[in-house]
Amino acid sequence: MKSSLSYIEGVKTFPQNLVVKSQLTTSVNEGGVDLPVTLGVTTNIVLLSKTPMKPRISDQRVGFFNEKHWAFNDRQQKMDEKFFITRWNLEPKDEDKEKYLRGELVEPKKPIVYYIDPATPKQWREKIIAGVYDWQAAFEQAGFKNAVIAKMPDEKDEDFDIDDVRYSVITYAASPKSNAMGPSVVDPRSGEIIEADIIWWHNVMTSLQEWMRIQIGPIDPKARGNKFSDEYMGEAIRFVSSHEVGHTFGLKHNMGSSFAFPVESLRSKEFTDKMGELLLLSWIMPVTTMWHSRKMELLPSLQK
Ligand SMILES: [Zn+2]
Repeated sequence: MKSSLSYIEGVKTFPQNLVVKSQLTTSVNEGGVDLPVTLGVTTNIVLLSKTPMKPRISDQRVGFFNEKHWAFNDRQQKMDEKFFITRWNLEPKDEDKEKYLRGELVEPKKPIVYYIDPATPKQWREKIIAGVYDWQAAFEQAGFKNAVIAKMPDEKDEDFDIDDVRYSVITYAASPKSNAMGPSVVDPRSGEIIEADIIWWHNVMTSLQEWMRIQIGPIDPKARGNKFSDEYMGEAIRFVSSHEVGHTFGLKHNMGSSFAFPVESLRSKEFTDKMGELLLLSWIMPVTTMWHSRKMELLPSLQK
C-alpha cells in the first residue's frame, strides 16, 4: 500500500463493530511496468462474544461451508486439518429446554432476522420476504418455530445501518451485474454465523429471464417474451431470495443431490410428476442435505 496515495474515507462505529472505509493505492507489475491501482476497501472489526459457541466438525456428506483450522499438539508428528461448519447459534430459551428436548416446537432464544433494503423495488419486497419464510418448514424439522423473520426496517429507526453487524440485510444494488450472493460474517473460533448481508444485483433478473425462457418457455407461454409479468418474475425472485438465504445459513450448493435417486426414476413420468418440483428445488438448493431422510415429509410445505 502506498500511504501517500491512500486515505481513509470514513469511520463508523456501532455497539458491536467498527467499519473503516478507505481508498488504498498499490501497484501491480504488468509487462515490467509498475501501474498504480486504487481499490475501495472496507475493514470491519467485530466484537466477538466472550465465550465462543461450541464448534461442530464438518462432515463431507453434509454440504456446509466451513472454516479451516490447524490442530496440533506436542505429541503429533504432523498438524491436522480440522474444519468447523458455519451455522447460526439457535438454541431454545432456558424455560423451553425441556419442551425442546421432548421434541416440541419452541421459539429460539434469538431468531434469525433479515431486513429488506429500503432500496428494493416495491413490487419485489413481498416476494423476497416469502423466499426467507420458505425456510421456516426446515427449521421446524430441527425443532424451532418462528426461527426466521424477514421485515422492512422501521422507518423511524434512525440508527438502522446496513454496516451495523447487529442487522442482517438483504441489500439491493442498482447494478448491471447479473447475480446475487449470500456471504456471512463468521466467528473464526467456532464457525458461528454472527450476521449475513445478502448482495442482490438488479440484473439477476436478466439471468432469471434467460433461464426461464429457455427452460420453461417450451411448456409455459408465461415464460415467453422479453418481459415477464410481475407475478411470474416475482416467483423467480422468491427462488433467488430462498437460495441466497440458504447460503447465509451456511449451506453450499448440493452438487450431489441427484444421486439420491436412481437414473431410471428420473426418466419415469410417474416419478417426475410426483417429485419434479422437489428435484428442481434440490438442484436449486441443498434442501435435501440437511433433511435428507425427511424429503417426503417436506414435500407438501415446499410445494407451497
Ligand atoms: Zn448459490
